[in-house]
Order: sequence, then C-alpha cells, then structure tokens
Amino acid sequence: MKAEIFSIGTELLMGELTDTNAAWIAGRLPPLGIQLQWVSIIGDNLDMLSEAFIRGMERSDIIFTTGGLGPTQDDLTREAVAKAFGETPTVQEEVVRDLEEYFRSRGTDMPSHNIKQAHLIPSARFIPNPNGTAPGWWTQRDGKIVLNMPGPPGETHPMWEDQIAPHLRELITGEVTITRNVKTMGMSEGAIDEIVGEFFGHDNPYLGIYSKADGIHLRVIARAKDEASARTMIEPVE
Ligand code: ATP
Repeated sequence: MKAEIFSIGTELLMGELTDTNAAWIAGRLPPLGIQLQWVSIIGDNLDMLSEAFIRGMERSDIIFTTGGLGPTQDDLTREAVAKAFGETPTVQEEVVRDLEEYFRSRGTDMPSHNIKQAHLIPSARFIPNPNGTAPGWWTQRDGKIVLNMPGPPGETHPMWEDQIAPHLRELITGEVTITRNVKTMGMSEGAIDEIVGEFFGHDNPYLGIYSKADGIHLRVIARAKDEASARTMIEPVE
C-alpha cells in the first residue's frame, strides 16, 4: 500500500513551526506494511490543498494529514477533502452536542465558529478526539483512504495509537517491513562498499549506506508477507 503524508499549515512553510508530525507518522508505517512515498508541507490555501488531495489520490492509496482541523477560517483541511471528493459537508448534530458539552465542562459556551468541526461528508466518518475539540476524519471511497488528524502532537499521537493504527492493522494484510541497522567503526565508505557492494542496487532486501559522526552505518530493509520471512531475507545480507 503506497502512502503519503501532508503536514498542513502556513506556519510550517514560514519556518515558524518545525514539522515533527510527518517523521513521527513515517516511523510507524513500515511495520504496518505501508510504503511512504511522499511527504509534503502545504499552506492554508483551499485550492492548493484540494489540488494536493486530488494529485495524492492519483498516485497513492492512502494520505495521512495533520493540521488544519481547528475552528478558524484558515483551518481548511475538511473543506479541501470535501472539494477533492466532490462531496458536500453537512452538520452532524451529535458532534455539535459533544462540542457543546466539551465547552460546558470547561465552564464556557461553545464559540459559534466551532460548528465547523461538526461537519462531515458522506464518505467520511469522525475519528473521536478525547484530547481536543477537533475530531479527525476517516474518508474512504473508490479504494482510496484519507486520514485527517489534528496538528498538536498531544492530540495526534493518542488518536494514532488508539484509533488509527489498530484499524490499519486489520485493513492491511499485505506486507510488513523490517529494518536492521549495522554500525561500523574505523572503516571508510569505500572500504565497506568493496565488501558489501554486491548487495547494493536491489529493491528487496534494500541495503543503504549512511555516513554518520560515529562511523558508517548500514541499513537493511526487507518487505515480506510476515515478520519471520522478512527477517530471513535480512539474515544473509547482515
Ligand atoms: P487546533 O484545533 O489546535 O487548531 P489543528 O488541527 O487546526 O488543531 P493547527 O492549527 O494546524 O492544528 O496546529 C495547531 C498546533 O499543532 C500548532 O500550533 C503546533 O503546535 C502543532 N502542529 C501543527 N502541525 C504540526 C506539525 N506538522 N508538527 C508538529 N506540530 C504541529
């Protein structure tokens, strides 16, 4: 299954915020057998966002996004997904009630703009967010999946662990990816290349070589139908 990640927000493009969400999600995809192919940072612009979703769905099976689910005018992720799917969002009364209760429990009324967060398109379902006001969206149609999560890591991480990863595990019965890192010391890149050169240039298992401060590291990555088969593929290279 091919995937991409969109980190959404103009503050990311302005260098005011560092994108840590993409790396966090990226690290969780290989064990699920999901191959990440693209990571994009996109500003708060409806046309650019919807174009990115349309293009993303042409080349990938699944798109993960973080950010842009808040109540303000520049939070446009939902609108962009609706535009890309050509569907009209409608207000879901039960979520309005949840939001009103969320604010009431904090001793205040729900600001009228938060109604944005209770909108849904027919192909989407809400992903509950016990840690904030912005529910996520799980949209699935024509073999494509779009998963929208909130921006704050304190909301994204539990949503992923509790409500996204378990469903993805059920959904994806294809391949798992296992990685093995080997550190070397006191050898140059060229000298290592002489020894392991025959393993380079293959897709699966893949061998990568990386020059780090403490020496040359080698990384073997294998994809297979299960963990045991992937480890068997890694062994001879290791
Ligand atoms: P909210 O309901 O809090 O507005 P949101 O989904 O609209 O959530 P944003 O407004 O885009 O999210 O971002 C809110 C905050 O989340 C940012 O100020 C930042 O602290 C954090 N955040 C957003 N995107 C990222 C990212 N890619 N990496 C790390 N942190 C992020």
